[in-house]
Amino acid sequence: MEDQLMFSDDDTPVSPTKLVWRVLTVDDDPDFQRATAFALSGLEVLDGHIELLQAFSYREASMLLAEQRDIAVILLDVVMETDDAGLRLVRSLREVIGNAETRIVLLTGEPGMAPVQEVMHDYDINDYWTKSELTAERLLTVLTAGVRGYSQLRSVARARRGLQMIVESSNALFCSKSTRELSAKILSEIALLLDLETEGIVCVSAEESASGGESTVRIISASGRFFRAIDGGLDSLNDITVAAALQRCLLEQQSLRFDHATVLFFPRFQAGADYACYVDTERTLDDTEMELLKVFSASISRGLYNVALFSRLEEMAYQDDLLKIPNRNALIRMLDLTLQGEAKDERVLVLIDIDNFSGANTAFGTGYGDFILGLVANKLRQTFSGNVLVARVRDDLFAILGPQSEVRAADIVELFRRHNRPYEMGQVHSLSSVTLHLSDFSGTASVALQNARLSLKQAKRIGHNQHVVYNPAVQSAHAESYRLLLALRDAVEAGRISIELQPQVDLRTRKVTGVEALARWRQVDGRMVPPLQFIPLAEATGYILPLGDLLMRLALQAARQLADAGYGDIRTAINVSAPQLLQHDFIARFTTHLRDAGVQPHQVEVEITESVAMQSFETVCGQLAALREMGVAVAIDDFGTGFSSLSYLRLLPADRLKIDRSFIEEIGEVDDDKMIADAVIQIAARVGMQVIAEGVETQQQADWILQHGCREAQGYLYAKAMPCAELLVWLGDWPGRPA
Ligand code: C2E
Ligand code: CA
Ligand code: CA
Repeated sequence: MEDQLMFSDDDTPVSPTKLVWRVLTVDDDPDFQRATAFALSGLEVLDGHIELLQAFSYREASMLLAEQRDIAVILLDVVMETDDAGLRLVRSLREVIGNAETRIVLLTGEPGMAPVQEVMHDYDINDYWTKSELTAERLLTVLTAGVRGYSQLRSVARARRGLQMIVESSNALFCSKSTRELSAKILSEIALLLDLETEGIVCVSAEESASGGESTVRIISASGRFFRAIDGGLDSLNDITVAAALQRCLLEQQSLRFDHATVLFFPRFQAGADYACYVDTERTLDDTEMELLKVFSASISRGLYNVALFSRLEEMAYQDDLLKIPNRNALIRMLDLTLQGEAKDERVLVLIDIDNFSGANTAFGTGYGDFILGLVANKLRQTFSGNVLVARVRDDLFAILGPQSEVRAADIVELFRRHNRPYEMGQVHSLSSVTLHLSDFSGTASVALQNARLSLKQAKRIGHNQHVVYNPAVQSAHAESYRLLLALRDAVEAGRISIELQPQVDLRTRKVTGVEALARWRQVDGRMVPPLQFIPLAEATGYILPLGDLLMRLALQAARQLADAGYGDIRTAINVSAPQLLQHDFIARFTTHLRDAGVQPHQVEVEITESVAMQSFETVCGQLAALREMGVAVAIDDFGTGFSSLSYLRLLPADRLKIDRSFIEEIGEVDDDKMIADAVIQIAARVGMQVIAEGVETQQQADWILQHGCREAQGYLYAKAMPCAELLVWLGDWPGRPA
């Protein structure tokens, strides 16, 4: 490797393989041809051999010139077949073939035949000699001048072509977004520029921050026989000579030229990092080619710098600044790809949350918090292979995305068991996790992430150290309920909740004895939300307390309107849920509402369901007794659906049992002796309560219950529930209606 040359400090001459200069003699005079051949044999011009080509006619010469572009000098007899044959040949060489580099020396047999000056100029003819003047000595001088002229022109032309290619190549380079893509292009474009087979390497010298500034060399791109070394170090090239050349280029920070290879250097200040590019040239590049490479190198440096800048921006967008691991953006990007990819069903997303984190962060300061985050990030990074994405979503929420086989829920739990926790996390922190199998999920990445977060949040309500698996069914129901609850709150605030009243009728007298107040929710678009959808939700979430309070006040207002209209003897039944009734101040509230509405207690009935009554029996009995003491009636709703025993029923302070609609439906369909409605009526009689049937829709049902001892009924046979104003009109018409 001792013959290499730096082209950073060029001037040292190259030792190229011997040059060859082609000289063509065109003359129909065989004697002259022979003499010239003799004079030229073994001649050296400008470090090159002369290779002689001969043409004996205009035709022969033009064929030769069309094929062979690299002829340095033509010695041309002007007069051949015709007087102007020589000049015609020159014209076709310059204008038709387009060869501007080949030098031309005109010869004539006799003096006085010199071409005019314009012709010499127009066709770029260098010299004009009569054959007799052309001694061997003079021939050498003439050829030397011609060859030099040719060589210079050819360099200029090649440089021009090369520059043109560089401009095109540079454009190609600037489209690259990654160093790898760019490096591959660098190799192919250099090969194109130098007209070589692509065999080369691009490597970067990366400073390892961890090992204190010591740098390692990484191969980013490699082609031809080096292909396998991509991503490896220099030793993976398995070629000591090539590795040494690259190493030296990076060490000396300059480009190197060898006999059969060239190593280009791209410095950090131009390219963003120190890069070296090795190109197998199989020959020594000449000065023009080296010049071209120099120019191209500037473009390459700029390209590398742009890519570095691009990836830095990308890093900023996709990396967590504190922990130097992928951030939420990176997770979403990868999650989206995974959800669309073929391996989707084998992938899992795990979210991990540090219990107690925000508390500790507040108590011990953010420095402590950062430290704990670092511990968790490291532990996760160490545990999983490169196939698994470990990201920080936000605050103390981490995400793991990877193959099911590698990211197993049980292992995650194990990973953060007390004895496995990093010492520093000690007793302070446990972790909670949720595992979402992507096979259970269809939707976008951000929805997947949101759902996983929601179920983690729910799991954490129970306490610390929770590890759950995402259940899509539960989740979508939860999401829907949540949406509904928000809408319900808005509806309450906007006054879109109202009540309607459904009459209850004495079957014997046909008098209206009561009305049941039923909640109604009319949405902005006019559609109704059924109470069976929102009442249970409100009960489950505690929202029934304010909602029930509102419904109670609306019902009492209606009772007041009935009394004002002269229907003071019609009792208004109000449905009361368990959480309402179990409030310790329920009686006090109820009393206040009664007073505010100006309604007498005996105008009102409270309906509680059988299951509520049996739930907290003692408390419920106490509240019901207090109501009855005030004069408020009590009805047990949906009776027959619970499992209250007769002995409890005897103790329950209630006035009326409401036979559930499902038993009324059976009338006419089931044998009489199997009718539960019949049993309910008899039980009521036994415990001394009145009984009312709900959901009476047919006259047959009405006849049947009356026959079996139930005097009151409520149902569509008489009326549906309606707004108070409508009810007042209905009541006015009622006695006139046909039975
Ligand atoms: P519920 O207390 O058993 O109310 C009777 C339900 O049966 C009402 O449905 C009523 O419209 C319906 N109904 C009445 N007659 C007939 C009939 O002949 N045929 C049929 N098929 N249905 C009839 P709604 O209004 O949908 O209420 C459903 C449930 O929602 C109520 O059952 C009650 O449990 C609850 N609810 C309604 N309003 C309130 C309220 O203000 N407070 C509370 N806590 N719960 C309420
Ligand atoms: Ca009811
Ligand atoms: Ca009922």
